Amino acid sequence: MNIPFFSFEGMHPAIKGEMQETFEKFYDSNWYVLGEFTKQFEQDFAKWSNVNHAVGVSNGLDGLILALRCLNLNKGDEVIVPSNTYIASMLSITHNGLTPVLVEPNRETFNIDPDLIEEKITERTKAIMPVHLFGQPCEMDKITGIAKKHNLYVVEDNAQAHGAHYDNKKTGSWGDVNATSFYPGKNLGALGEAGAVTTDNIDFATKVKTLRNYGSNTKYYNEESGFNMRIDELQAGLLSVKLKYIEKWTRKRQEIANWYFESLKNLREIELPVILPKATHSFHLFVIKTKRRDELKEYLAQKGIGTLIHYPVPPHLQEAYKKWGCTIGDFPIAEELADSSLSLPLWPGMTKSQTKQITKIISDFFA
Ligand SMILES: *Cc1c(COP(=O)(O)O)cnc(C)c1O
Repeated sequence: MNIPFFSFEGMHPAIKGEMQETFEKFYDSNWYVLGEFTKQFEQDFAKWSNVNHAVGVSNGLDGLILALRCLNLNKGDEVIVPSNTYIASMLSITHNGLTPVLVEPNRETFNIDPDLIEEKITERTKAIMPVHLFGQPCEMDKITGIAKKHNLYVVEDNAQAHGAHYDNKKTGSWGDVNATSFYPGKNLGALGEAGAVTTDNIDFATKVKTLRNYGSNTKYYNEESGFNMRIDELQAGLLSVKLKYIEKWTRKRQEIANWYFESLKNLREIELPVILPKATHSFHLFVIKTKRRDELKEYLAQKGIGTLIHYPVPPHLQEAYKKWGCTIGDFPIAEELADSSLSLPLWPGMTKSQTKQITKIISDFFA
């Protein structure tokens, strides 16, 4: 028996015809950069996200870079970010010459602990970047409340939470300007690189559009020193097709998560994901915690079950940031999560019998 960590099996075969039609249209359009597909996807994604504007960009990291860029912050200004996140959140801050100020997560939710934010705010703090890790929304009511009180921007990293809500409001629609990724393995995934910036603010949307396109609105006239961070036209077209199915795929993810909860709830050796009362979790990942993580991972691998660790090394201990001079113990909760987390297989189309096989092996391991 082999169960991979992830598969497109339950998503891609069923829409192959539609995807191929889109490719044909793209091919015959003779217009391959920033064309009708981009315009259409930006409208579709804005509507689905419940925001006024979506701007397609090259990938999630570039989206975060541009989202921060359009705030016109100064070198050395501080951005509050969780210590427990994918490196991209951190890179978007440091690539802009800004200073990340790390705040520990809540161990149950994996997300930034709102109660630890205010003590980290200084005169130089300009923004908070909540990251909705694994599809679990951050406590956005508290976070936007703190931001308002201290006059800070909120920039959501919504790369992992397409389809999640907090207080009935979609993630990616709370912040002043937000970014997301359509990396293939994300809940809404392209067949290559793509990302988007979402905002209600027309000025931010316009600025991001200019910056992604060499700082230009009129061909060969450059108002800003921009980038080439445009969304790929073909990916935009394919994403409009996939967007029609995201609600269905999200429900499948939630159903699979429920099967896991049901089968694993009595296993005292592991901690299961927690869903906050005001949240709908879009289960990008199903992450359990156990002190015997490495042994369990190995045991599952021997039985043909794919798992991954998100993430084995927190940003402050990465080689890339050794200049920060951090050592083990500086952000103990992020480190504890890095040492104990294990992501189980989960993809739309996975069967109940597959989850049963996996949970049986996990139970056998602890027995
Ligand atoms: C995937 C991801 C990104 C970056 O997206 P890319 O499209 O790979 O650049 C940013 N933040 C988080 C939390 C992610 O998971």
